[in-house]
Amino acid sequence: MLEKILGKLLLFIITFVTLVNGYFITPTNAQDQSEYRVDFSGVSAPIPVNIRTGPTTSAAIIDRLQPNTRVQFSGWTRGTSLNDYWTSSPDNRWFFYEKNGVKYYIASAFINGNPPATDQNNVLVSYQVTITTNIPALKQAYENAIQNWNNTGIVSLTPTQNAPITLGEGYARGYDGFGWWQLNGSRVTGGTVIQWNRVSNRNAAYLEALATHEIGHVLRLNHRSDYSIMNNSWLTRITAPTQNDINELRNIFSR
Ligand SMILES: [Zn+2]
Repeated sequence: MLEKILGKLLLFIITFVTLVNGYFITPTNAQDQSEYRVDFSGVSAPIPVNIRTGPTTSAAIIDRLQPNTRVQFSGWTRGTSLNDYWTSSPDNRWFFYEKNGVKYYIASAFINGNPPATDQNNVLVSYQVTITTNIPALKQAYENAIQNWNNTGIVSLTPTQNAPITLGEGYARGYDGFGWWQLNGSRVTGGTVIQWNRVSNRNAAYLEALATHEIGHVLRLNHRSDYSIMNNSWLTRITAPTQNDINELRNIFSR
């Protein structure tokens, strides 16, 4: 009897520890959830291949690819590592395509085809940033803007506490927003301010475009007159950096 109780207690302790570990592990893993946006295609393995709602084998299966199907992807991320169907080497990349704003994920291990060179080796600039505003709409705009720049595959912005680059709210020198950067030795400082009383009635798309634009200045981008998030006249029509902006970032940071 005592043994049975001890056995149950042990099971309880093991379960509890696993849950606690699970809780701590999740946020750590979440830091490497960058998504890389790039168009490419691949052909699925000669077996049915699962299509899932997320980049892990625990995500729901929502459909299956027929064998040898060509798929047009719009980006990739990292998730559960699986052994490659052809080479057996481990591969933690998951490719995704989008339909009606929803992402569908397929393990790279079952796709013959690779994204063009936009992996982490191509990141040319990595900064830690701190969002200092508590205004929910601005916070969201900054979070989306960070994702927009990270999606280029050449910038890596990591939100953290007390970073030398701050993304906040305040007086913007007569503009909707303001962004700057400064070099102190090898240490880059900088930041953005968005003046809330000028933009509080604007929609979420404009706030995201504005935040992306101002962070562009932190990334040393100047204003442009062509198709660009750094062109003020495009801010009501696009929210993310364009190929012109990506090319300019390469110019600046690959020197
Ligand atoms: Zn500007």
